[in-house]
Amino acid sequence: MSGRLPTNWFNEFVGRIEHEVPLAPMTWFKLGGRARHVYRPADETQLARMIGYAHDDDVPTRVLGGGANVLIRDDGVDGIVIRLDEPPFRKIEFRDDRVIAAGGTDLMRLTLECARRGLSGLECMAGIPGTVGGAIRMNAGGRFGDIGEVVATARLLNLEGKIETLNAEQLGFAYRHSNVGQRIVLSAELQLRQDDPESVMDRYNEIWESKKSSQPMGANSAGCIFKNPPGDSAGRLIDQAGMKGDSVGEAEVSRDHANFIVTRKNATARDVIRLVERIRQTVRRKFDVELETEIDIW
Ligand SMILES: Cc1cc2nc3c(=O)[nH]c(=O)nc-3n(C[C@H](O)[C@H](O)[C@H](O)COP(=O)(O)OP(=O)(O)OC[C@H]3O[C@@H](n4cnc5c(N)ncnc54)[C@H](O)[C@@H]3O)c2cc1C
Repeated sequence: MSGRLPTNWFNEFVGRIEHEVPLAPMTWFKLGGRARHVYRPADETQLARMIGYAHDDDVPTRVLGGGANVLIRDDGVDGIVIRLDEPPFRKIEFRDDRVIAAGGTDLMRLTLECARRGLSGLECMAGIPGTVGGAIRMNAGGRFGDIGEVVATARLLNLEGKIETLNAEQLGFAYRHSNVGQRIVLSAELQLRQDDPESVMDRYNEIWESKKSSQPMGANSAGCIFKNPPGDSAGRLIDQAGMKGDSVGEAEVSRDHANFIVTRKNATARDVIRLVERIRQTVRRKFDVELETEIDIW
């Protein structure tokens, strides 16, 4: 496996590929090294062609959405990092109470736009950063609901560059899980309910306020670090273990929400990873509970 691009197909994508690109600015943690290549496809057809070539030549690919749930290691990532930020990947179509949103669509923008139109069902996502694709992949959500509850179908690009359409059952949504796996979410059809715009906006604002008051929204973080173990809350366990405010280097367990790690200037990804391990060990020792990370570490 090599992350270098074979010259025979590289020329086809000139102008859309950058090399040795710092990834930190593309993530909410603002940490980590470079990508060997960053590719911004013009449209789905071009993306599918690239994925097909990369598959045939064994060049690793990953898609980076809003970077709100990833931690990039300090030595960066090999292969091609794909960004879906050209207009075809950010398109939203409203069809009565159904919405078709492309995978690179900003989730906060979509959530607010639906609420303004009185389309109910997505307001539970108020204040959750990232893209539609990233949210579907991990079935993002919280105590007010998860995105999977409104996904009717999703179009996915598989590793061979072929498009598959999966319905909600096939997508297998569960707590912070879907069956998307290594495939790329190109778009999703969301089934919402037409309601009174004022009452949807009220619910949206209520959920947004509740998030703002319980999470360090302004800090560099990637949201919750760990999934909640069955029947319990990771934040509660970390708090009970007395770890709020604990730090490694410039990474600290948030004092506002124990399941968040926030970083200060000059933090490294290594600081965060060491703190994650320390939390995991402490919780295991004190409560005999194995915490599983919710964030993706690249
Ligand atoms: C302040 C803050 C608050 C947060 N609050 C919440 C919360 O309340 N609930 C919650 O669930 N999460 C929360 N998060 C985490 C994050 O917002 C969600 O996980 C979000 O869905 C990540 O989307 P993204 O586009 O940023 O994904 P990224 O971080 O870019 O990527 C995450 C994973 O998804 C994959 N991915 C990205 N785009 C696609 C695509 N198009 N197709 C397939 N795979 C893709 C990536 O390869 C990676 O594996 C929070 C994060 C922050 C920073």
